[in-house]
Amino acid sequence: MIPFRDTYRDIPLYSPARKPCRVDLSDNTNLFGAPPSADRVLREEGLQHLARYPASYAPELKRAVAAYAGVAVENVTTGCGSDDVIDCALRAFLEPGDVVAFPDPTFVMVPLFARLSALRPVPVPLKEDLSLDVDGLLATGAKLIYVCTPNNPTGTVAARAALERLVDRAPGVVLIDQAYVEFSRGGDFMDLARTRPNVLVTRTMSKAFGLAGLRVGWAVGAPALVAEVEKARGPYKHTALGEAVAVSALAEDVAWMEACAAEAVENRERLRGGLKVLGLEPLPSEANFLLVPVPEARRVGEAMRERNVNVRVFEGLAGVGDALRIGCGPWPLMATALK
Ligand code: PMP
Repeated sequence: MIPFRDTYRDIPLYSPARKPCRVDLSDNTNLFGAPPSADRVLREEGLQHLARYPASYAPELKRAVAAYAGVAVENVTTGCGSDDVIDCALRAFLEPGDVVAFPDPTFVMVPLFARLSALRPVPVPLKEDLSLDVDGLLATGAKLIYVCTPNNPTGTVAARAALERLVDRAPGVVLIDQAYVEFSRGGDFMDLARTRPNVLVTRTMSKAFGLAGLRVGWAVGAPALVAEVEKARGPYKHTALGEAVAVSALAEDVAWMEACAAEAVENRERLRGGLKVLGLEPLPSEANFLLVPVPEARRVGEAMRERNVNVRVFEGLAGVGDALRIGCGPWPLMATALK
Protein backbone atom coordinates (compact mmCIF):
# COMPACT_ATOMS: atom_id res chain seq x y z
CA MET A 1 0.00 0.00 0.00
CA ILE A 2 1.23 3.49 -0.83
CA PRO A 3 1.46 5.60 2.33
CA PHE A 4 -0.49 8.80 2.01
CA ARG A 5 -0.78 11.85 4.19
CA ASP A 6 -4.39 12.50 4.97
CA THR A 7 -4.09 16.19 4.22
CA TYR A 8 -7.85 16.53 4.40
CA ARG A 9 -7.73 15.96 8.12
CA ASP A 10 -6.49 19.46 8.94
CA ILE A 11 -7.10 21.60 5.91
CA PRO A 12 -10.70 22.49 5.11
CA LEU A 13 -11.31 22.39 1.39
CA TYR A 14 -11.68 25.85 -0.10
CA SER A 15 -15.06 25.70 -1.64
CA PRO A 16 -16.78 29.07 -1.85
CA ALA A 17 -20.21 27.76 -2.80
CA ARG A 18 -20.30 24.79 -0.52
CA LYS A 19 -19.62 23.66 2.96
CA PRO A 20 -15.98 22.46 3.15
CA CYS A 21 -15.67 18.69 3.01
CA ARG A 22 -13.08 16.61 4.77
CA VAL A 23 -12.82 14.15 1.90
CA ASP A 24 -12.84 15.41 -1.66
CA LEU A 25 -13.32 12.72 -4.30
CA SER A 26 -14.62 15.18 -6.86
CA ASP A 27 -11.71 16.14 -9.10
CA ASN A 28 -9.88 12.92 -10.07
CA THR A 29 -6.52 14.08 -8.72
CA ASN A 30 -3.96 11.74 -7.12
CA LEU A 31 -5.40 11.25 -3.64
CA PHE A 32 -2.11 9.79 -2.42
CA GLY A 33 -0.63 13.29 -2.70
CA ALA A 34 2.32 14.84 -4.52
CA PRO A 35 5.28 12.83 -5.86
CA PRO A 36 8.26 12.20 -3.55
CA SER A 37 10.83 14.26 -5.48
CA ALA A 38 8.62 17.36 -5.20
CA ASP A 39 9.45 17.57 -1.50
CA ARG A 40 13.19 17.66 -2.23
CA VAL A 41 12.93 20.15 -5.10
CA LEU A 42 10.80 22.49 -3.05
CA ARG A 43 13.18 22.37 -0.09
CA GLU A 44 16.48 22.49 -1.98
CA GLU A 45 15.63 24.67 -4.97
CA GLY A 46 12.38 26.35 -4.07
CA LEU A 47 13.57 29.88 -3.33
CA GLN A 48 16.00 30.08 -6.23
CA HIS A 49 13.06 29.72 -8.61
CA LEU A 50 11.19 32.73 -7.34
CA ALA A 51 13.10 35.89 -8.25
CA ARG A 52 13.88 35.26 -11.93
CA TYR A 53 11.77 34.43 -14.95
CA PRO A 54 11.76 30.88 -16.27
CA ALA A 55 12.91 30.23 -19.86
CA SER A 56 10.07 31.39 -22.09
CA TYR A 57 9.12 28.11 -23.79
CA ALA A 58 9.98 25.57 -21.06
CA PRO A 59 12.92 23.83 -22.78
CA GLU A 60 13.83 21.68 -19.77
CA LEU A 61 10.27 20.53 -19.32
CA LYS A 62 10.07 19.71 -23.03
CA ARG A 63 13.26 17.67 -22.78
CA ALA A 64 11.90 15.77 -19.77
CA VAL A 65 8.57 15.10 -21.51
CA ALA A 66 10.32 14.00 -24.70
CA ALA A 67 12.48 11.53 -22.75
CA TYR A 68 9.46 10.22 -20.85
CA ALA A 69 7.25 9.88 -23.94
CA GLY A 70 10.01 8.54 -26.20
CA VAL A 71 9.76 11.34 -28.77
CA ALA A 72 11.91 14.24 -29.99
CA VAL A 73 11.69 17.67 -28.36
CA GLU A 74 10.16 19.01 -31.61
CA ASN A 75 7.18 16.72 -30.99
CA VAL A 76 6.36 18.34 -27.62
CA THR A 77 4.45 21.40 -26.52
CA THR A 78 3.51 22.27 -22.95
CA GLY A 79 1.03 24.51 -21.21
CA CYS A 80 -0.49 25.74 -17.97
CA GLY A 81 -2.27 22.44 -17.42
CA SER A 82 -3.53 20.39 -20.34
CA ASP A 83 -6.56 22.72 -20.19
CA ASP A 84 -4.28 25.38 -21.62
CA VAL A 85 -2.86 23.07 -24.30
CA ILE A 86 -6.39 22.17 -25.40
CA ASP A 87 -7.43 25.84 -25.41
CA CYS A 88 -4.35 26.79 -27.47
CA ALA A 89 -4.95 23.93 -29.92
CA LEU A 90 -8.53 25.12 -30.51
CA ARG A 91 -7.23 28.60 -31.32
CA ALA A 92 -4.31 27.24 -33.37
CA PHE A 93 -6.41 25.23 -35.80
CA LEU A 94 -9.77 27.03 -35.85
CA GLU A 95 -11.09 30.49 -36.72
CA PRO A 96 -14.00 32.20 -34.95
CA GLY A 97 -17.24 30.59 -36.14
CA ASP A 98 -15.59 27.23 -36.93
CA VAL A 99 -17.02 24.01 -35.54
CA VAL A 100 -15.29 21.94 -32.88
CA ALA A 101 -16.85 18.48 -32.59
CA PHE A 102 -16.68 16.18 -29.58
CA PRO A 103 -18.52 13.17 -28.19
CA ASP A 104 -21.18 13.85 -25.59
CA PRO A 105 -20.80 13.42 -22.67
CA THR A 106 -17.17 14.43 -22.35
CA PHE A 107 -14.85 16.88 -20.59
CA VAL A 108 -16.91 19.99 -19.83
CA MET A 109 -14.09 22.47 -20.49
CA VAL A 110 -14.08 21.78 -24.23
CA PRO A 111 -17.37 23.55 -25.06
CA LEU A 112 -16.39 26.26 -22.57
CA PHE A 113 -13.06 26.94 -24.30
CA ALA A 114 -14.79 26.76 -27.67
CA ARG A 115 -17.24 29.49 -26.66
CA LEU A 116 -14.49 31.67 -25.18
CA SER A 117 -12.78 31.62 -28.60
CA ALA A 118 -16.06 32.25 -30.48
CA LEU A 119 -16.03 28.72 -31.94
CA ARG A 120 -19.11 26.57 -32.41
CA PRO A 121 -19.13 23.56 -30.05
CA VAL A 122 -20.99 20.62 -31.63
CA PRO A 123 -21.64 17.68 -29.28
CA VAL A 124 -22.14 14.29 -30.95
CA PRO A 125 -23.83 11.80 -28.58
CA LEU A 126 -21.94 8.63 -27.77
CA LYS A 127 -23.71 5.53 -29.04
CA GLU A 128 -25.97 3.61 -26.68
CA ASP A 129 -23.08 1.35 -25.64
CA LEU A 130 -21.02 4.54 -24.98
CA SER A 131 -18.76 3.89 -27.98
CA LEU A 132 -17.70 6.69 -30.37
CA ASP A 133 -20.07 7.69 -33.15
CA VAL A 134 -17.28 8.04 -35.71
CA ASP A 135 -19.60 8.78 -38.63
CA GLY A 136 -21.49 11.35 -36.57
CA LEU A 137 -18.25 13.12 -35.63
CA LEU A 138 -17.05 13.09 -39.26
CA ALA A 139 -20.42 14.36 -40.50
CA THR A 140 -19.87 17.62 -38.60
CA GLY A 141 -17.00 18.42 -41.00
CA ALA A 142 -15.12 19.90 -38.02
CA LYS A 143 -11.50 20.86 -38.61
CA LEU A 144 -10.81 19.85 -35.03
CA ILE A 145 -12.38 16.80 -33.41
CA TYR A 146 -11.78 16.27 -29.70
CA VAL A 147 -11.87 12.76 -28.21
CA CYS A 148 -11.16 12.04 -24.56
CA THR A 149 -10.03 8.49 -23.73
CA PRO A 150 -10.38 7.27 -21.04
CA ASN A 151 -13.33 9.62 -21.18
CA ASN A 152 -14.27 12.04 -18.43
CA PRO A 153 -16.89 11.58 -17.01
CA THR A 154 -17.84 8.09 -18.26
CA GLY A 155 -14.44 6.44 -17.61
CA THR A 156 -14.89 4.41 -20.80
CA VAL A 157 -12.19 4.05 -23.48
CA ALA A 158 -12.38 4.50 -27.24
CA ALA A 159 -11.80 1.38 -29.34
CA ARG A 160 -8.56 1.57 -31.34
CA ALA A 161 -10.26 0.63 -34.62
CA ALA A 162 -12.84 3.42 -34.23
CA LEU A 163 -10.23 6.01 -33.33
CA GLU A 164 -7.97 5.01 -36.22
CA ARG A 165 -10.91 5.26 -38.65
CA LEU A 166 -11.67 8.72 -37.27
CA VAL A 167 -8.04 9.80 -37.65
CA ASP A 168 -7.82 8.40 -41.21
CA ARG A 169 -10.94 10.19 -42.39
CA ALA A 170 -10.95 13.42 -40.39
CA PRO A 171 -10.54 16.52 -42.54
CA GLY A 172 -8.36 18.17 -39.89
CA VAL A 173 -6.83 17.59 -36.48
CA VAL A 174 -7.92 14.91 -34.01
CA LEU A 175 -7.05 15.95 -30.46
CA ILE A 176 -6.92 12.90 -28.19
CA ASP A 177 -7.10 13.87 -24.52
CA GLN A 178 -5.34 11.20 -22.46
CA ALA A 179 -5.43 12.88 -19.05
CA TYR A 180 -6.31 9.49 -17.47
CA VAL A 181 -4.26 7.12 -19.64
CA GLU A 182 -2.08 5.97 -16.72
CA PHE A 183 -5.11 4.18 -15.25
CA SER A 184 -6.09 2.31 -18.42
CA ARG A 185 -5.07 -1.03 -19.79
CA GLY A 186 -3.82 -0.82 -23.37
CA GLY A 187 -5.59 2.49 -23.92
CA ASP A 188 -2.47 4.48 -24.82
CA PHE A 189 -2.65 6.24 -28.20
CA MET A 190 0.72 7.99 -28.08
CA ASP A 191 1.75 5.89 -31.10
CA LEU A 192 -0.85 7.77 -33.19
CA ALA A 193 0.70 11.10 -32.15
CA ARG A 194 4.10 9.77 -33.24
CA THR A 195 3.01 8.40 -36.60
CA ARG A 196 0.01 10.39 -37.88
CA PRO A 197 0.34 13.96 -39.14
CA ASN A 198 -3.06 15.05 -37.78
CA VAL A 199 -3.06 13.67 -34.21
CA LEU A 200 -2.25 15.61 -31.08
CA VAL A 201 -2.28 13.67 -27.79
CA THR A 202 -2.60 15.77 -24.64
CA ARG A 203 -1.41 14.57 -21.23
CA THR A 204 -1.21 16.10 -17.78
CA MET A 205 0.86 16.15 -14.60
CA SER A 206 -2.37 16.83 -12.66
CA LYS A 207 -3.84 13.35 -12.30
CA ALA A 208 -1.60 10.28 -11.85
CA PHE A 209 1.49 12.44 -11.24
CA GLY A 210 -0.14 14.28 -8.33
CA LEU A 211 0.73 17.84 -9.36
CA ALA A 212 -2.63 19.47 -10.15
CA GLY A 213 -1.74 22.60 -8.18
CA LEU A 214 1.31 23.28 -10.36
CA ARG A 215 -0.70 23.45 -13.60
CA VAL A 216 1.55 21.56 -16.00
CA GLY A 217 0.24 19.77 -19.08
CA TRP A 218 1.77 18.75 -22.38
CA ALA A 219 1.03 17.40 -25.81
CA VAL A 220 2.79 15.27 -28.39
CA GLY A 221 2.27 15.48 -32.14
CA ALA A 222 3.99 15.99 -35.48
CA PRO A 223 6.42 18.96 -35.39
CA ALA A 224 4.22 20.97 -37.77
CA LEU A 225 1.17 20.55 -35.48
CA VAL A 226 3.16 21.33 -32.37
CA ALA A 227 4.60 24.47 -33.98
CA GLU A 228 1.06 25.76 -34.64
CA VAL A 229 0.03 25.18 -31.03
CA GLU A 230 3.17 26.96 -29.82
CA LYS A 231 2.26 30.01 -31.93
CA ALA A 232 -1.16 30.16 -30.29
CA ARG A 233 0.36 29.51 -26.87
CA GLY A 234 2.74 32.37 -26.24
CA PRO A 235 5.70 32.40 -23.84
CA TYR A 236 5.95 32.07 -20.03
CA LYS A 237 3.13 29.60 -19.47
CA HIS A 238 4.83 27.85 -16.56
CA THR A 239 6.15 29.00 -13.26
CA ALA A 240 9.86 28.19 -12.80
CA LEU A 241 8.91 26.16 -9.73
CA GLY A 242 6.24 24.24 -11.63
CA GLU A 243 8.67 23.43 -14.38
CA ALA A 244 11.37 22.26 -11.94
CA VAL A 245 9.02 19.98 -9.99
CA ALA A 246 7.45 18.52 -13.15
CA VAL A 247 10.93 17.80 -14.56
CA SER A 248 11.97 15.95 -11.42
CA ALA A 249 8.70 14.01 -11.28
CA LEU A 250 9.05 12.82 -14.88
CA ALA A 251 12.65 11.77 -14.25
CA GLU A 252 12.37 10.25 -10.79
CA ASP A 253 8.80 9.47 -9.80
CA VAL A 254 7.48 7.25 -12.57
CA ALA A 255 7.60 4.11 -10.41
CA TRP A 256 5.78 5.94 -7.59
CA MET A 257 3.18 7.23 -10.06
CA GLU A 258 2.62 3.73 -11.45
CA ALA A 259 2.24 2.27 -7.95
CA CYS A 260 -0.34 4.95 -7.05
CA ALA A 261 -2.21 4.31 -10.28
CA ALA A 262 -2.20 0.55 -9.70
CA GLU A 263 -3.60 0.98 -6.19
CA ALA A 264 -6.22 3.48 -7.37
CA VAL A 265 -7.32 0.97 -10.03
CA GLU A 266 -7.45 -1.88 -7.51
CA ASN A 267 -9.54 0.26 -5.15
CA ARG A 268 -11.75 1.43 -8.02
CA GLU A 269 -12.74 -2.19 -8.65
CA ARG A 270 -13.24 -2.75 -4.91
CA LEU A 271 -15.55 0.27 -4.78
CA ARG A 272 -17.33 -0.93 -7.90
CA GLY A 273 -18.02 -4.24 -6.13
CA GLY A 274 -19.26 -2.42 -3.01
CA LEU A 275 -21.59 -0.19 -5.02
CA LYS A 276 -23.00 -3.19 -6.87
CA VAL A 277 -23.83 -4.79 -3.56
CA LEU A 278 -25.83 -1.63 -2.83
CA GLY A 279 -27.78 -2.28 -6.04
CA LEU A 280 -26.02 0.39 -8.15
CA GLU A 281 -24.50 -0.12 -11.61
CA PRO A 282 -21.27 1.87 -11.98
CA LEU A 283 -20.01 2.14 -15.55
CA PRO A 284 -16.93 0.07 -16.38
CA SER A 285 -14.03 2.49 -15.93
CA GLU A 286 -10.41 2.67 -17.07
CA ALA A 287 -9.78 5.92 -15.20
CA ASN A 288 -9.27 6.81 -11.54
CA PHE A 289 -12.97 7.41 -11.01
CA LEU A 290 -16.29 5.64 -11.31
CA LEU A 291 -19.40 7.11 -12.86
CA VAL A 292 -22.40 5.83 -10.97
CA PRO A 293 -25.86 6.42 -12.42
CA VAL A 294 -28.05 7.50 -9.50
CA PRO A 295 -31.57 8.95 -9.65
CA GLU A 296 -31.73 12.40 -8.05
CA ALA A 297 -27.94 12.67 -8.01
CA ARG A 298 -28.02 16.25 -6.71
CA ARG A 299 -29.91 15.24 -3.60
CA VAL A 300 -27.61 12.26 -2.99
CA GLY A 301 -24.53 14.45 -3.56
CA GLU A 302 -25.81 17.00 -1.03
CA ALA A 303 -26.44 14.23 1.50
CA MET A 304 -22.87 12.96 1.02
CA ARG A 305 -21.53 16.49 1.48
CA GLU A 306 -23.41 16.68 4.77
CA ARG A 307 -21.28 13.68 5.76
CA ASN A 308 -18.10 15.50 4.63
CA VAL A 309 -17.60 13.61 1.36
CA ASN A 310 -17.52 15.61 -1.84
CA VAL A 311 -18.23 13.81 -5.12
CA ARG A 312 -19.03 15.30 -8.51
CA VAL A 313 -22.73 15.50 -9.37
CA PHE A 314 -23.98 15.29 -12.96
CA GLU A 315 -27.59 15.84 -13.95
CA GLY A 316 -29.10 14.64 -17.22
CA LEU A 317 -25.88 13.38 -18.84
CA ALA A 318 -26.50 12.28 -22.44
CA GLY A 319 -27.17 8.54 -22.51
CA VAL A 320 -26.61 8.20 -18.76
CA GLY A 321 -28.98 10.54 -16.90
CA ASP A 322 -28.17 11.65 -13.36
CA ALA A 323 -24.91 10.30 -11.98
CA LEU A 324 -22.20 10.71 -9.36
CA ARG A 325 -18.51 10.62 -10.27
CA ILE A 326 -16.39 9.25 -7.47
CA GLY A 327 -12.59 9.65 -7.48
CA CYS A 328 -10.42 6.66 -6.52
CA GLY A 329 -7.22 6.53 -4.47
CA PRO A 330 -6.40 5.32 -0.94
CA TRP A 331 -9.09 2.99 0.35
CA PRO A 332 -9.62 4.80 3.69
CA LEU A 333 -10.79 7.87 1.76
CA MET A 334 -12.91 5.92 -0.70
CA ALA A 335 -14.60 3.83 1.94
CA THR A 336 -16.23 7.03 3.18
CA ALA A 337 -18.25 7.12 -0.06
CA LEU A 338 -19.85 3.78 0.79
CA LYS A 339 -21.04 4.78 4.25
N1 PMP B 1 -8.70 16.64 -19.64
C1 PMP B 1 -9.54 15.97 -18.85
C2 PMP B 1 -10.32 14.86 -19.43
C3 PMP B 1 -9.69 16.33 -17.51
O1 PMP B 1 -10.56 15.68 -16.73
C4 PMP B 1 -8.93 17.39 -16.99
C5 PMP B 1 -9.04 17.84 -15.57
N2 PMP B 1 -10.25 17.84 -14.99
C6 PMP B 1 -8.08 18.05 -17.87
C7 PMP B 1 -7.97 17.65 -19.18
C8 PMP B 1 -7.29 19.25 -17.45
O2 PMP B 1 -6.33 18.96 -16.55
P1 PMP B 1 -5.12 19.95 -16.29
O3 PMP B 1 -5.46 21.27 -16.90
O4 PMP B 1 -5.00 20.01 -14.84
O5 PMP B 1 -3.95 19.31 -16.99
